Amino acid sequence: MKTDISDLRGDFPILDQLVNDEPLTYLDNAATAQKPNQVVAALTHFYQTDNANVHRGVHTLAERATAAYEDARHKVTHFINAAEPAEVIFTKGATDSLNLIASTYGEANIEAGDEIVISIMEHHSNLIPWQQLALRKHATLKYIELTPTGELDMADAETKITDKTKIVAVAHASNVMGTVNPIAALTKMAHQHGAIMVCDGAQAVPHMPVDVQALDVDFYAFSGHKMMAPTGIGVLYGKRDLLAAMPPYQFGGEMINFVHRYESTWNELPWKFEAGTQNIAGAVGLGAAIDYLENLGMSNVQAHEQQLVNSLLPQLTADRQIEVYGPHDPARHTGVIAFNIKGLHPHDVATALDMEGVAVRAGHHCAQPLMETLGLVATARASLYIYNTQDDVDRLIHALNETKEFFSHELIKAE
Ligand code: PMP
Repeated sequence: MKTDISDLRGDFPILDQLVNDEPLTYLDNAATAQKPNQVVAALTHFYQTDNANVHRGVHTLAERATAAYEDARHKVTHFINAAEPAEVIFTKGATDSLNLIASTYGEANIEAGDEIVISIMEHHSNLIPWQQLALRKHATLKYIELTPTGELDMADAETKITDKTKIVAVAHASNVMGTVNPIAALTKMAHQHGAIMVCDGAQAVPHMPVDVQALDVDFYAFSGHKMMAPTGIGVLYGKRDLLAAMPPYQFGGEMINFVHRYESTWNELPWKFEAGTQNIAGAVGLGAAIDYLENLGMSNVQAHEQQLVNSLLPQLTADRQIEVYGPHDPARHTGVIAFNIKGLHPHDVATALDMEGVAVRAGHHCAQPLMETLGLVATARASLYIYNTQDDVDRLIHALNETKEFFSHELIKAE
């Protein structure tokens, strides 16, 4: 196992560059993570030696490509502790996975008068598919609200999840506030009322050990690109009996058993949900990213980020010119931290930080109902990953101080 982070940074040549004449400090990992050499090498190897379409050929390359693709599925199965590879469907990403559930399970199971419960901290990907399903079906969409400290209000969840609820869909970790939600408890609540539990794990799987069977969720969605795999590959985990009963998502090659003139039958799981040529190399890259993370150990990944949060978060919350959204307790926080410098627009802050080589995101983070609830239009957001160091934290704090200095006249007006 690699524990020396300076060693590890060598795996990410992209980090070793100057941006605006300053060393790059990449703190936009919640948007997408950088890719280690090992993942890039796996892609190159696949394209240089094994590339062929999968499942369709008997020639050697087709067999090798199929083995590589299905091997990646086995790696995902093990990584999230799914019961079997048939429960792991490759998709384009978390958005695609969540749309798949809403369009298939949702379309088949939601009726007028049913209720769908989500949380107010959802990313648009785990909000709009349910909003639109509710509109199509004349069902009701309900939101679990926040506590004053930016955590999910479980007392509110108790009142919102009722016998009318058919689907509960909540993020494992917020992409804005860094909150970790009690998914196992919510799942229990959903099941007690006969509802299914959908979890958006886009901000959790890259950063902490995840065991879908221990959580007992019915569906779990995540994206490869946030965990150092390429873009365009993601996963939908689903329990076998639910997936087996669901109609297909898309129709075409690979997802069929027999096609007759006027009717067709569907392939076995998981291929029933993988119509057309898939992102084969992307899956191989995801497998390589999982190897990389497993070599580090997900508990070590989490502990490393926690250490940085323990340093960064108190420095931000102690600064009276900065407002931090979400929990202020580092122990209840992932490496995603949303904040504003009071009186400054976050886009100006992000631009000023970029001048110091520090990459953060500014905007509504695809969570407009959350922004509205917090009374905000936008925030800056710093987000950490395994290759970030204390030096990165120090550089962010230094750049924020420089930014405050530069805009000091604006800050005085805001006080
Ligand atoms: N859910 C959450 C919590 C996210 O942070 C994101 C990505 N920002 C998504 C869903 C959507 O992921 P993707 O764009 O990779 O489909």
